[in-house]
Amino acid sequence: MPELPEVETTLRGIAPHILNQKITQVIVRQPKLRWKMPDDLVQILQGQVVRHCRRRAKYLLIELDAGVLMIHLGMSGSLRIFHGRQPEAGKHDHFDAIFADGTLLRYHDPRRFGAILWLAGVAEHHDLLKNLGVEPLSDEFTASYLLNQLRGKNRAIKLMIMDNAIVVGVGNIYANESLFQAALLPNRPANSLSLNDCENLVSAIKHILQRAIETGGSTLRDFVNSDGKSGYFQQEYKVYGRAGETCKMCGSLIEKTVLGQRGTFYCANCQK
Ligand SMILES: [Zn+2]
Repeated sequence: MPELPEVETTLRGIAPHILNQKITQVIVRQPKLRWKMPDDLVQILQGQVVRHCRRRAKYLLIELDAGVLMIHLGMSGSLRIFHGRQPEAGKHDHFDAIFADGTLLRYHDPRRFGAILWLAGVAEHHDLLKNLGVEPLSDEFTASYLLNQLRGKNRAIKLMIMDNAIVVGVGNIYANESLFQAALLPNRPANSLSLNDCENLVSAIKHILQRAIETGGSTLRDFVNSDGKSGYFQQEYKVYGRAGETCKMCGSLIEKTVLGQRGTFYCANCQK
């Protein structure tokens, strides 16, 4: 499933190709994704110019003259850019936007859990965006912010950092890896963390997401005429998926439990 780093990598991959370009043609082959695309999406988009591209949580926001095209990759969605001769559309290529210079932006999604929506107003007022917490890589995500959010809560810290109302985009893999880097057990009650613990955790989350984006960024060229698979981030995990293997720090065995129905991996010796 595309996580925040893959969405950021996608944004950086497509933005330079479509920025300041006019949409000349739109093709919708299958409007039924997680939510149905608007019936008049083709008419709405034609003739509009891309003014800005950005990301909020895992939503790609393509700002046009009259509103925002919001794209979510769901479980299996991807966006690709093609120049020159346009390849024939496959069965899972649900949406194409073609620009004045011939550039093609194509949305591919075998499982169709993604979304392509049109927002006529301010993106941040939309129901899907208005209750989201802070961006993990922004200056708003600080140790004191996190400490404040954890105050009085005894839920496991792992569940708190995966809660989108507190901070967005910390998926299961990143939560496991960040807690290992911060030397905190995943089931530590949220209100037992000190400011120093929060400092370690916030910097671990930022570091791990940043590294994932940089790794993805090194394959940006693959967004052009690629097989669409290689832009995704791959990392050498320290704990995630390593139950029964030895900890790379201390040699103890990595243990696995389930928290909030998600696989949770940790080293009981390194994490307290
Ligand atoms: Zn260890």
